[in-house]
Amino acid sequence: MGGSASSNMDRKVIKALEQRARQILKARPAYQEMVDFYLTVFRRQIEWRDRLAVHPQAVDDEQRRACLAEGEPLVDRFDSGIESESLVDLWTEMKTVFREGNDALREAVEKVDAAEGAGDFMPAIWLLEYRPDSHEPTAEAADRIGVDSMLLETLTRAVTFPHWEKVAQAWLRGENLDEWRRFLCPTCGSPPGLAEDRMDGPAADGVTASPRRFMHCSFCGSRWVVPGLVCPTCDSTTSGDAKYYFTEDEPELRIDFCKSCDHYVKVVNADKIGGRVHVGLELLTTVHLDAIAHDKNLRPIAAGS
Ligand SMILES: [Zn+2]
Ligand SMILES: [Zn+2]
Repeated sequence: MGGSASSNMDRKVIKALEQRARQILKARPAYQEMVDFYLTVFRRQIEWRDRLAVHPQAVDDEQRRACLAEGEPLVDRFDSGIESESLVDLWTEMKTVFREGNDALREAVEKVDAAEGAGDFMPAIWLLEYRPDSHEPTAEAADRIGVDSMLLETLTRAVTFPHWEKVAQAWLRGENLDEWRRFLCPTCGSPPGLAEDRMDGPAADGVTASPRRFMHCSFCGSRWVVPGLVCPTCDSTTSGDAKYYFTEDEPELRIDFCKSCDHYVKVVNADKIGGRVHVGLELLTTVHLDAIAHDKNLRPIAAGS
């Protein structure tokens, strides 16, 4: 049933991921423990991809264009078709991975299990209702269960991400979505987690390469093209408002920020890392950039445009 073709592909994806992880750790060895743990999570997500029960409502090119032209993310109009049982199966699997992690992770899983046993927490409902804009429910549930809300969110996203990624792939089919031109995710409506700059190679008609900016959604893995010279938060196009920071030892990373509204986005230069940008790994290993941005009183890119 094409199993070997898909596992060949999986091996390639995992290999590329490990290669980028080595590159990152060379520059930033402090991330070692975290990267090792998350590589386990990512590998498990990739291995499970074919087993996930996700049957997104069919959306043809015309329907997609019409929906996006009205400024609506696709999830507002079409059914994601994510099955609750599939979410729970991966949840069970991920709990095993977390249990084998460090003490904090193990303890978090124990508390989740205890709450579930006592009938205070229902993973099937939790996972199905978990949406990109539901940070407050996460904090409320974490409080009730007695776990750190970041840990609960990490565990939850480890499960929901591969499901939503399948939905995004079915709906976007690798298109750049030039007609969208917005900063919110065209699939799920989240604010973008990360930007990617990449030179588009010389086209067949001989036109020279041109730089393009993409955004990545950390909730569903969507990737789409956006205008490079507009602030995602306040729409400023004043060239003096666009500023950035970068360091010599990490030439592939930078922080772009807007002087007018003080919002920033982390940017990965795809040509310099020489491959596909894996949003989960990049976000995880650029926490030091958030600290720099925070020190400079900048805020992450916000919803609303
Ligand atoms: Zn999304
Ligand atoms: Zn701005």
